[in-house]
Amino acid sequence: MTTLQKARSDVLFEGLTPQPPDVVLSLIRAFAEDPRAGKIDLGVGVYKDEAGATPVFAAMKAAEARLLETQATKSYLGPEGDFGFLEAIAPVAFGHTLAQTGMFGVQTPGGTGALRLAAELANAGRPGATLWLGTPSWPIHSQIFAEAGLNVRTFPQYDAAAQRLLFDEMLGALETAQAGDVVLLHGCCHNPSGADPDADQWRQIARSLAERCLVPLIDLAYQGLGEGLEPDALGLRAVLDQCESAMVAYSCDKNFGLYRERTGALFVRAGRHQEAARTNVLKFARCGWSMPPDHGAAAARIILEDADLAAQWRAELETCRQRLASVRQILAKADPRLAPIGAQKGMFSILPLNPDQVGRMRAAFGVYMLGNGRINLAGLTPSNIEAFVRAFGACAEE
Ligand code: PMP
Repeated sequence: MTTLQKARSDVLFEGLTPQPPDVVLSLIRAFAEDPRAGKIDLGVGVYKDEAGATPVFAAMKAAEARLLETQATKSYLGPEGDFGFLEAIAPVAFGHTLAQTGMFGVQTPGGTGALRLAAELANAGRPGATLWLGTPSWPIHSQIFAEAGLNVRTFPQYDAAAQRLLFDEMLGALETAQAGDVVLLHGCCHNPSGADPDADQWRQIARSLAERCLVPLIDLAYQGLGEGLEPDALGLRAVLDQCESAMVAYSCDKNFGLYRERTGALFVRAGRHQEAARTNVLKFARCGWSMPPDHGAAAARIILEDADLAAQWRAELETCRQRLASVRQILAKADPRLAPIGAQKGMFSILPLNPDQVGRMRAAFGVYMLGNGRINLAGLTPSNIEAFVRAFGACAEE
């Protein structure tokens, strides 16, 4: 007797294997479930003030109120998004108008959307193109580029035990790259290390990229949170001055406090292929999200087009920056093993702890950070920083 195997439609999904949970999102859950009163969250990458809150910028509240009052329609804008937003961001990021940069811009859902578009564009231009990525990096970087079909090659960029930028290794990796390869660089406030190249090192990087005809993809997600809006853009500008082709993934989610509004942009300069690059980016946007979410970009545009609101926003951003810098100074003075953190930039640094010690910080002291020892300095406040330093002292190597 033969039994007829019943056909099933879920064969469509049989090639799938469950994916590991996102490390940051898992950490948020574990922290929420920890009942201890003195627990400290240094995991998730959002800015927090001294009270541990992530408030909406006052300039943003004012811009949003104006937007509510004046917005006459919510009709479609088009896959490029808000041209006024793109024009308004250009002087902040590049110190020039968009036309002066020779780039076209497309508004994207956050910096992540910009990175994804850049990856798709590179892969469409040259299937399987190589993308160079210094490690450690934001863990999503390699996933985005690999998902889009790029050949991701890594080089060591930061020595976590010695707490230093591996600049010679970085330049060495560029020397082995081929014309047309993409090189991902964090524009400022490196995530996770906080270790940025200095001005002279940026000039060397720019020269090396240009000499070898490499294509920088600058990820600028924290402008204004390192040394200030202008100094944080110096590396980006040095690279754009030298390189013919370039891509820039810009995020407003940290420096405008817009996180969930998903506000960012991709800027591209593609030499002889500018129009093909522009229309391909529009096609990828159209097939991905069709048109980017409007609210955050419209509110950021309102801020940047109004001198008073722009001044208020700059002042608020500067307050955030100074708070991060002062937490760095407190840590650097509190323990000699934390001294390098004083010279690093932005929201993140990696503590010199091995995975067991990271586990002990969490189990014994309720201090949550990523498994590689990355902390968000904004999670440290006047009410928990001493407890943190004591916990670090108890867990770190002598
Ligand atoms: N690049 C880096 C280095 C980041 O840390 C982040 C956010 N954590 C992003 C890009 C993406 O930012 P967004 O939230 O705007 O997508």
